[in-house]
Amino acid sequence: MGSKIHQSTHKLAIAVVNDASIDCPKNEDKTPATIANSRPGITDVVKFNQCKLGIAYYLPFFVTLPTMKYQPPSLVDTFDRRIRYLRMSVTDRCDFRCQYCMTEEMRFLPRKSVLSAAEIVRLATLFVELGVEKIRLTGGEPLVRPDIVSIARDLSAIDGLNELVMTTNGSQLSTLAKPLVDAGVSRVNVSLDTLCSDQFSELSRTGNLTTVLAGIDAAIAAGFKRIRLNTVLLSGQNEAQIEPLINFALDRGIDIAFIEEMPMGHITQTDRELSLVPSSQVLDIVKSRFTLTPVAGSPNDGPARRYAVEGTGTELGVISPITHNFCDSCNRLRITPDGRLVLCLGHENSLDLRQMLRSDMDATSLKRAIVAALAYKPERHVFDQPDEPQVVRLMNVTGG
Ligand code: SAM
Ligand code: SF4
Repeated sequence: MGSKIHQSTHKLAIAVVNDASIDCPKNEDKTPATIANSRPGITDVVKFNQCKLGIAYYLPFFVTLPTMKYQPPSLVDTFDRRIRYLRMSVTDRCDFRCQYCMTEEMRFLPRKSVLSAAEIVRLATLFVELGVEKIRLTGGEPLVRPDIVSIARDLSAIDGLNELVMTTNGSQLSTLAKPLVDAGVSRVNVSLDTLCSDQFSELSRTGNLTTVLAGIDAAIAAGFKRIRLNTVLLSGQNEAQIEPLINFALDRGIDIAFIEEMPMGHITQTDRELSLVPSSQVLDIVKSRFTLTPVAGSPNDGPARRYAVEGTGTELGVISPITHNFCDSCNRLRITPDGRLVLCLGHENSLDLRQMLRSDMDATSLKRAIVAALAYKPERHVFDQPDEPQVVRLMNVTGG
């Protein structure tokens, strides 16, 4: 069954490239070479063949000729959601192996599959021209890319981009915080799940708390507009860290968000149903100590429900993919390190833009393909429905 589905998506992928290249003035007949040289334009689900879910729940994705011919002025999906926010995972590699994100033995993408800096900037420019106003660099760990500062500099120079932000594990902020600010990164989210050194080593497997704390201090000194800690809560592991982490954020005048663990990929260390800490539990704890006032969101915001902590400059957020579905206001698309446009974090359907970039497709055709792909953005993720499809990608592929 798996190979049958893959075969049919392969044909559909060829249709994507054929159709999208029709209007390219530079290139009369580039399609055969494109297809012969590399993989088709559809998501790599077959890579996960050993995992039954990967194939059984894959949603076939294709773009038809009539859809390709129609290009609305901006990125609006079939549920009337306007896309303003692009999350670009610039590498799947990382110096940590967080339990909820990766397996212990990871196999990463071959380097030639990963988008080059020029490809990242080209794609970002197309998305900004289509109406994207905010880009988040993420990963894997974005700071393990040696060219990350120059990528940030080039992205922040794109006309029409209002905000360039980043999510990082903080391990290299000691040296990179200031260069990133100078390159135009305005805000940074730093993941921090615990202030207990042993627990940090256990949860991150290869991380070091002291280095990350030094990175956070460097970020504060570097002058980012805002810094937010991201904490994934796991029942029976770091729940007791909720209050110490809030105190840590308050002491430094920075923000904090608590995230419900999402079922991404097949990890073995945690039993996710058992490890969920609902955001309501966090809010109960916080409200017993502080007065919280909801912060009005802006159209470019992510999924956090944010609150001002009275009497402080700190904002506290909760991100509740499991207990509080936020899909009706989704304004986001994602790019994987190998250039796939992922339409929803909770689904596998995607469009291979790298294939199109590397076939020298012109900007108009690329933008048409992107706009057409929006027709396949699902209404919602299904993380909260145990009988529905699960996602086989690990979180480092799409970057949270
Ligand atoms: N390496 C960077 C970092 O850790 O901040 C950026 C990439 S990481 C995948 C982005 C965010 O996703 C982090 O805040 C991380 O804690 C979060 N994350 C990873 N796996 C998750 C999961 N299964 N559920 C919820 N959040 C997750
Ligand atoms: Fe690396 Fe971030 Fe995933 Fe941790 S959460 S393993 S730091 S990508």
